[in-house]
Amino acid sequence: MVLQAALVDSHCHLDFDDFAEDREAVLARARAAGVEHLLIAAVTPSHWSRVQALAAEQAGIWAAAGVHPNEDPASTPELEVLLDALAAPKVVATGETGLDYFRSEGDLSWQRRRFALHIAAARQSRKPLIVHTRAAAADTLELLRSEGARDVGGVIHCFTEDWDFARAAMDLGFYISLSGIVTFKKSTELQEVAKKIPADRLLIETDAPYLAPVPQRGRRNEPAYVVHVAEFLAQLRREDPQALVAQTYTNFFRCFPAAGVAA
Ligand SMILES: [Zn+2]
Ligand SMILES: [Zn+2]
Repeated sequence: MVLQAALVDSHCHLDFDDFAEDREAVLARARAAGVEHLLIAAVTPSHWSRVQALAAEQAGIWAAAGVHPNEDPASTPELEVLLDALAAPKVVATGETGLDYFRSEGDLSWQRRRFALHIAAARQSRKPLIVHTRAAAADTLELLRSEGARDVGGVIHCFTEDWDFARAAMDLGFYISLSGIVTFKKSTELQEVAKKIPADRLLIETDAPYLAPVPQRGRRNEPAYVVHVAEFLAQLRREDPQALVAQTYTNFFRCFPAAGVAA
């Protein structure tokens, strides 16, 4: 099936060295697949300028600034430095940020402090949050609530939590973004959650180069493959694929208003 409606990949890492050899070809394939907009989430301060440069090169590429929860504790920026990065052209979101207790060990209070710092920066800059959460559901919701994330909202990216979490996040004004994980055979619980997410709260992403969706599973992921996430979800939710794509496109600009202004 060829989708006619324009797509958005709401979360990818096109700045990674995985794409060093063929980034232009990857972008050309994304365009050919109908991906009109994509958002590059930053994971480390040393890549912020690279992400911004990629966004500056082409229409439809958007940037974020933030530090991934699993990055070294020493890479936590000062608030002023993060705010500076968030003020750069085409930076529309704060992230990625969040909590990941799966891949870090020991006392993780530094992760919580860093997440709180990002929430404060998002509120000040009015650039919504891109939240990564893994094995840390209760603390993630607790911090979103206590630090006032409702004021700015954002997205729970690469969503893998349960329905209670989805509902709590949506109550705080967050969108739910599904990745290739939802297409995996074993993701039956996630698929049940995906059926229930209201259409006006749904985003789709690749998280490329990770997590390529079926039927590309196991390969390096790339933004063009977001079409497979869309097609799978349309079938799962018994929705018209064009309508689902159009809705997620609209949702992206509602979630990240700065992208709409500068588009
Ligand atoms: Zn993530
Ligand atoms: Zn990511």
